[in-house]
Parts: sequence; C-alpha cells; structure tokens
Amino acid sequence: MIPVNTPRLCGNEKKYLLECIETGWISSEGPFVQRFESEFSAYCNRKHGVAVANGSAALDIAVKAIGIGAGDEVIMPTFTIISPAQSVVQQGGIPVLVDSDPETWNMDVSQLEEKITPRTKAILVVHIYGLPVDMDPVIELARKHGLKIIEDAAEMHGQTYKGRKCGSFGDISVFSFYPNKHITTGEGGMLVIDDDELAEKCRGYRNLCFQPQKRFVHSDLGWNYRMTNMQAALGCAQLEQIDDTVKRKREIGALYTEKLKGIPGLQLPQVRTEYAENIYWVYGIVVEDSAPFSVDDLVAHLGSKRIGTRPFFWCMHEQPVFQTMGLFDGTSYPVAENMARNGFYVPSGLGMSNDDIDAVVAALRERIGND
Ligand SMILES: *Cc1c(COP(=O)(O)O)cnc(C)c1O
Repeated sequence: MIPVNTPRLCGNEKKYLLECIETGWISSEGPFVQRFESEFSAYCNRKHGVAVANGSAALDIAVKAIGIGAGDEVIMPTFTIISPAQSVVQQGGIPVLVDSDPETWNMDVSQLEEKITPRTKAILVVHIYGLPVDMDPVIELARKHGLKIIEDAAEMHGQTYKGRKCGSFGDISVFSFYPNKHITTGEGGMLVIDDDELAEKCRGYRNLCFQPQKRFVHSDLGWNYRMTNMQAALGCAQLEQIDDTVKRKREIGALYTEKLKGIPGLQLPQVRTEYAENIYWVYGIVVEDSAPFSVDDLVAHLGSKRIGTRPFFWCMHEQPVFQTMGLFDGTSYPVAENMARNGFYVPSGLGMSNDDIDAVVAALRERIGND
C-alpha cells in the first residue's frame, strides 16, 4: 500500500509535544503559538504571523480583513482548491476567474488586465502544485489599479520567486499546514502580514473579535479559528527541517521525472521557469489527448496495485454549488478544463522511499505498455 501522502515527523515533534503535555499548555494560550508565529513569519520575511486552525480559515480571515464585501470583485484562477473562492463568496464578493497556463498550471497572468473593472478590489493569487505564479506582472497591475493582493501560498513553503520567498507578496499571504503540505501541524494555517493594523484586525477575526478592554462586548463578527499550542509545537519542529524537506521533495520530483520522461502521452510537471525551480507540492501528471490510455485507466490500475492517487482540482466555474448560485454562467476556460479532466497526482509524501517511487513508476509503465 502506497498512500498518496505520508507525513514525516522525525525531528523535535515528539519532544515539543511532550513539553505541551508536561507543562499543561495545550490551548492557543501556550508559548509555542507565538514562537511559531514569529519564527514562521520571519522565515517568510514578514513582520507578523497570525496562526489559525487551517488554511481555509486563514483565507476567510484574509478576505474579510482586506475588506471584501457585497459585490466586490476578486480576480483569481478557476483552477484551484475551492477555499479561496468560497471565502470570497461567503463575504458576498464575486470571484472573477482566469484560465491557466498549460505549462506551469498557474493562472495565466497575461489574462488579468482584461478582467479588471471598477468593482475589482483584489487579485487573489494561488500558487499551484509547486511552481509560483509569475508575480511581477501581478504586482505591477495591482499598483497601477490600486488593488490589494491576497497570496495563497498553501503549497509553497520554502519556494521562492526570483529569489524572494513565496508568502512575501500579498498584502496578506496565507499558508496551510495540512499533513500533505511541506510543513504540517496536523491541521493548521497562518496569515503573514507586514501592516500592523491589518495584523491586529486578523488577530481579532481569529478570536471572535473579543476586545482587549471589554472582552464580551463585540463590535464586529469573527470566528474561533485559533491554533492550539500542540499544533504550534509540531510547527516549530517542522520549520527546523524545512530546508531538508524542500530538498527531499525536489529529489522525489526529479526521480519521477527521470523515470517517466519520454513516455508518449504524459505531460509531466515543468521542472523550472525563469523565476523558480519546482518544489513539487504534489507530482502531477496530465494525460494528453493523443494518449491511447485515459486518466481513468491509469488511476484504476494504480488503485488495483494499492497505490493512492488524487484527481486534479475541479474548476471553480464548473462547481455545482456556484452554478446553483448563478455564478460563472456560460463561461469556459479551456486550459483549466482540460487539466481538471485529464490530470491526477501520484504519491509524493515525505514518508515515501525511493523504492515506493519505483513501484509507482513500474505500475504506470505496466498499464501504459511501456515497460
Ligand atoms: C491546502 C490548501 C488550502 C486549504 O488549506 P486547509 O488547511 O486544508 O484548509 C488552501 N489553498 C491551497 C492552495 C491549498 O493547497
């Protein structure tokens, strides 16, 4: 059995967790929370870190704190996990979608400017699968049109764009620490921010908008999205290992590419762009139209060998929930639609061995008839 992800917890995780239990600090009041916030935000070259319960919670807070409300338009990729779109819609905002680049799988930034209207408030960047979005054109457009940037860096711990850390580009940038991310706290997330006032606002939204002076008197609505000391303890231990983690993920990616390249019909992840080297949050494969096998064939065969896979994200404009709401009527984004239909990813967790990689490759070759 090779699961699609197995985490690796081989540093100080156990020691720090024991410390939580021995000291009795298990809630969000414990000392690891602030330590993780300051260490992780410093790692991203940001002034403030606001640790939260998960990455989707971080997006909820980011969208509200940046001021997205009824009728405000937010430009984002159609090819993404639902979290960023859901956060915008739940605040009454309207996602305005952009198609993907067929090579990097990120949003095609050349299509951004035509989407800007007088109601556009923000660009919500989502870095996909291992390569960052081409940020310079995004930053330039945001400046020119007075737009905010929210950066979803949930798949980008340790990645850089032209040498600058991912997570350093948004007015607010967010991370997830789910077990398949490069740093995990089991469940968890963080907002990283430079602006003092914005950070204070986010801390309020995380903590039910309790007020420092009159705790149980509320002048706004937030959430209980706090992170526990135990989660933060894991986070501190994981952050100590981030360089090794990125190195190993790149190794896994390079091994797959070396063993799979040249097989007709498979589009493999782009190894590098002029601005970044892939960190392979996941190792994605898109089955090309010309292939004599389908994505379902490959997924079924791997499944029969007890090898886990996941389909690619499903586009936002094709989500039944948004269609029911009358969003995105009659729109089409052909590149993203093709990726969603023909893409899947194979196991690439930090807990897997090189033998596991060989087993996945052998199973793929067996079905493709290329062994
Ligand atoms: C994982 C992920 C999220 C959601 O994070 P959770 O912690 O699972 O809520 C959001 N955005 C992206 C791009 C992700 O990959």
